[in-house]
Amino acid sequence: MVSKSLDTNKLRLRQYPDPILRSPALPVEIFTPEVSAIAEKMTEIMLANNGIGLAGPQVGISRRIVVISLSGKREDVEVLINPVLSNFQGISEMEEGCLSLPGIRATVRRSAACTVKALDINGQEFVLDAVDLAAIVVQHETDHLNGRLFIDRLNSLSRLSCRRALKQMEQEFQEKN
Ligand SMILES: [Zn+2]
Repeated sequence: MVSKSLDTNKLRLRQYPDPILRSPALPVEIFTPEVSAIAEKMTEIMLANNGIGLAGPQVGISRRIVVISLSGKREDVEVLINPVLSNFQGISEMEEGCLSLPGIRATVRRSAACTVKALDINGQEFVLDAVDLAAIVVQHETDHLNGRLFIDRLNSLSRLSCRRALKQMEQEFQEKN
């Protein structure tokens, strides 16, 4: 598992081009209190930043943990562990943003519906059919678990329009690290 002495208070939002965003996350195998603490801290960070979804790598945890709240409210938070998507249907083009890519928004083409199989915070399996925004968010977050960002899915024109902002983030990251 993650290190025993992990202090979740030290978790912080990771932004492009932090390399952890590019490494595929490992599955959660044991449901320790630490996993709950990570999900709780992720929820806090997501809500504080007005996000509707957040994946482990975005807080520096390379584990397959996702939190989602479509309303942006705490009572609607869902924790998805080791999510697996299937049964993709339809096509949706929606403007997306990402807490790891602040200031960038672009239209992304994804499936309009899919089925999600995941484990909850107690390790219990559940299945849900996601449509519209829910389907988009689970696809966006599952991409994060596989080291993919929404900018990888843009057409060449949208990609071009993001180039300057990405370059600037790359420069700032280099200066800080
Ligand atoms: Zn994102």
